[in-house]
Amino acid sequence: MREADPKKQMCLNEKCKDFGRKNTGNIIKKGFNAKGNQMFKCKTCGVRFPETKGTVFYNRHLTEDQIIMICKLLVEKNGIRAIERIMEIHRDTVSSVVEDLARHAKEVTDFLISNVGLTKVEVDEMWSFVKKTKRSCRRRRGSR
Ligand SMILES: [Zn+2]
Repeated sequence: MREADPKKQMCLNEKCKDFGRKNTGNIIKKGFNAKGNQMFKCKTCGVRFPETKGTVFYNRHLTEDQIIMICKLLVEKNGIRAIERIMEIHRDTVSSVVEDLARHAKEVTDFLISNVGLTKVEVDEMWSFVKKTKRSCRRRRGSR
């Protein structure tokens, strides 16, 4: 069984002064959620969140924060090219993240609602936008 390590977790509350910082000693284990996942608590702000290790939010090229940022930009209906421009990340990397997100749609939906604070409606809109974006990417590639 995988040992959940508080040192590898970070606070996901944007308003917290330890937001996104690892190994600051502010994260402690705090029980389990309904699905049996280890929960953690940030001592700085008191927010509880599930373990994030091994989820779609871990990417070879990007940090979890960057992936969450991509989700937020998608919610605001920014396409792959817009995200490339805003975040200065190559569009191939952005589209591979988007593909990854779509593959783990259920997990991503739960995460965005419970950890990032998006609403169900916003996440649903993000998915329909992602579907359109993926279609138009393929069309562009095919016409080259
Ligand atoms: Zn915190």
